[in-house]
Amino acid sequence: MHATLGRDPDTHVLLVTEDYLVPVHEAEGGPALQFRGADALDSEPAGWAYLGTYGGTNYAMARGARDMRADQWLGLRDIGAEVGDLDAGLLVQAVGLAQWHDRSAHCPQCGTMTELRDSGWVRHCPVDRTDIFPRTDPAMIVLVHDGADRCVLGRQSVWPTDRFSVLAGFVEPGESAEQAVAREVFEEVRLMVTDIRYVTSQPWPLPQSLMLGFTARVDGDQTLVVDQDEIVEAAWFSRAELMDAGRTRPRLPSPVSIAFQLITDWLGEKPAAPAWT
Ligand SMILES: [Zn+2]
Repeated sequence: MHATLGRDPDTHVLLVTEDYLVPVHEAEGGPALQFRGADALDSEPAGWAYLGTYGGTNYAMARGARDMRADQWLGLRDIGAEVGDLDAGLLVQAVGLAQWHDRSAHCPQCGTMTELRDSGWVRHCPVDRTDIFPRTDPAMIVLVHDGADRCVLGRQSVWPTDRFSVLAGFVEPGESAEQAVAREVFEEVRLMVTDIRYVTSQPWPLPQSLMLGFTARVDGDQTLVVDQDEIVEAAWFSRAELMDAGRTRPRLPSPVSIAFQLITDWLGEKPAAPAWT
């Protein structure tokens, strides 16, 4: 596949730096990814991958270093919500594959340096001849509500003191996503949830998660108790409080996140911009 791409001079190549930044330029409709020509694939030893074909154009990612040819070098968190759908999809895929390449440079069984195969979608160990494929870790994220006008948001210790979001955690071995929702909510805030409903999902390749978004309801008179291990603060918030977010508290997660979508879906409208800046 590389040879094919190499012969196609129109291949659009997205460079990804060692800290997962990509070149961005200001286009008419806002920020857009800056693609390089097929010669950027000459950096093959540093890693590359075919991303797909859209509208007759081949897209690929290649590892590269920051240079002066782009206005800015930005990451998924910086521009994921601002670029168009095609760019957003390519960005998430390119960063996810780059992360996986970096973490699987050595065979997990014998430690030998792996070789890139199948257009960057397989890493092969030449000693035990195993193929290593990209993997995705399921995680769940849940908006807990009371069936009326309140929802639970929590704050992780590493966040600013006014930043709150919905609860989240990884799905553990032997567990369904719904069981993970119930367990994680109980562990974090000692609330028993029911009516667990899947809403949507979002790939989050930092490094390799698939976020499964849910809502869940708390019935009856239960007391919220924060487990200090996972989050340092959590509380019930009304819709009015969240619509006024940013001016008082809390600040909401970035619009690029599935957390923001779960919150705004529940609100029924989007709060004004200061809520998350
Ligand atoms: Zn091996």
